Amino acid sequence: MFVRVYQLGSDFVLNSKINTLSTTRMCVRSFKMKKKQSRQSLVTNTQRALEHFDLHYKPVYKDLWPSMRIALLTAKKTCAIMNNFAQDDKFNKHFYELGAIDIIHNAVNKQLQDIKSKTPTNIEQIERKFVNQNIDNQFDELTDDSDDELLDTTEREKANVLTEEERMNIDRTNLYSFVPTKTVYSENESLRLEESRKSVYTPMDVKVDIIKPRKINIPTDLSVMSFPKGDVQNFPSPKLDIPHGVLCHFMLDAASILPVIALDLDKGDNVLDLCAAPGGKTLTILQTGLPGSLTCNDISGSRINRLLNILHSYIPQEDREHVNIHSKAGSYFTDPIFDKVLVDVPCSTDRHSLLVDDNNLFNPNRINERIELPKLQKELLIAGIKSCRPGGCVVYSTCSLSAAQNDGVIQDTIDDLWRTTSIDIVVEDLSEMTQLFNDFYRFYNECRFGQLVLPSLSSNYGPMYFSRLRRVG
Ligand code: SAM
Repeated sequence: MFVRVYQLGSDFVLNSKINTLSTTRMCVRSFKMKKKQSRQSLVTNTQRALEHFDLHYKPVYKDLWPSMRIALLTAKKTCAIMNNFAQDDKFNKHFYELGAIDIIHNAVNKQLQDIKSKTPTNIEQIERKFVNQNIDNQFDELTDDSDDELLDTTEREKANVLTEEERMNIDRTNLYSFVPTKTVYSENESLRLEESRKSVYTPMDVKVDIIKPRKINIPTDLSVMSFPKGDVQNFPSPKLDIPHGVLCHFMLDAASILPVIALDLDKGDNVLDLCAAPGGKTLTILQTGLPGSLTCNDISGSRINRLLNILHSYIPQEDREHVNIHSKAGSYFTDPIFDKVLVDVPCSTDRHSLLVDDNNLFNPNRINERIELPKLQKELLIAGIKSCRPGGCVVYSTCSLSAAQNDGVIQDTIDDLWRTTSIDIVVEDLSEMTQLFNDFYRFYNECRFGQLVLPSLSSNYGPMYFSRLRRVG
């Protein structure tokens, strides 16, 4: 009967007595509420994540968004990191036979070709040096020895460093522009609005130089097998190398190796991995054979256990003993003693949020956590920078497409450091590095302070944002 009343609408109400009218209104309201509640319980967290991404990423990535969206909703691709602590190389050969290519060797070859084209007279000398793996010294000799060059005005414009006037004229198209001013919001609605505000990145004029690094160090001991773009084969599960008691390869999203390469590791470096668990990047760092010592930290004890399991499965005991493990809040690290620091922060984990409903960050109960993410990310990045010695570098990374969590956090951190400390940093432009890897990844060229791997169906890696900050004082 109530449903019928609702359907009959105003004509019926006009002809009713007052008490009938109020009962009718209550019933209509309760019917609507029930309908709303049942709709809400039908919406999954992964759907909420998709709605959020459609709302926030479409205006940023525009025509690229549909193909990224479909890639994110499709099974991701993995690479195989070959374990240098296993000595059975039959898997390596097998992977080549399947058509896989070593991403690292491919990049080194591209770099060699590039150098050959620049210095034709020294080709033989260069090749001999590559064989000897004296890449570091060789670059010093072959490339211009002058100091790192500051970007000229045109490059600065390209890098999107805005003047105050330009900043004021920015089209601040964001959600809160559409909110009427005289509205009272429920707590939930206010949180949603705050989230919308914090999901938007507005470029500011920050005091930082963006420089081109003098050379790109590629860790040549690292071996990472990937199928070429368009080839969606999977690698077989890792097998045990019985004499050494370790697994032969590790499967990982290939985008995860890029922040490690961006670390610019040198032999003997004292390295800090500030948010290390479950340990994919830690293992990649160890496979380079470069660190003199490695300190891994993660606030989560259960995730540290996962890291320990990975180390146990891939690294022999005598080598594992050189890895220091901590489980502390990242802000605990402040002594400037590390040469290289990786700050791979907690983020909206876009791919995971779209696929796994459990423990999903887009659960309405976790809205505060989502809102606070950029603040936590900035805190962790500041701790990473403070822990880095002058001259060393820090790589900040996320697996999110959110500009607020990527360029936005770098911008706020630079601004904060500039205002509150005497620490001096520069951003290093890694676009030349990405050119060496673009046979395997789709890169987005529009980030201001970093590089971003965009998921695509033909190379379904990422998302992965990474930015390198060099501490100069
Ligand atoms: N680097 C890891 C890898 O490659 O496997 C993934 C790191 S994950 C993106 C972010 C990590 O940050 C999580 O393991 C989380 O427990 C940790 N984390 C969150 N808050 C932290 C904090 N305040 N201090 C240190 N670690 C934190």
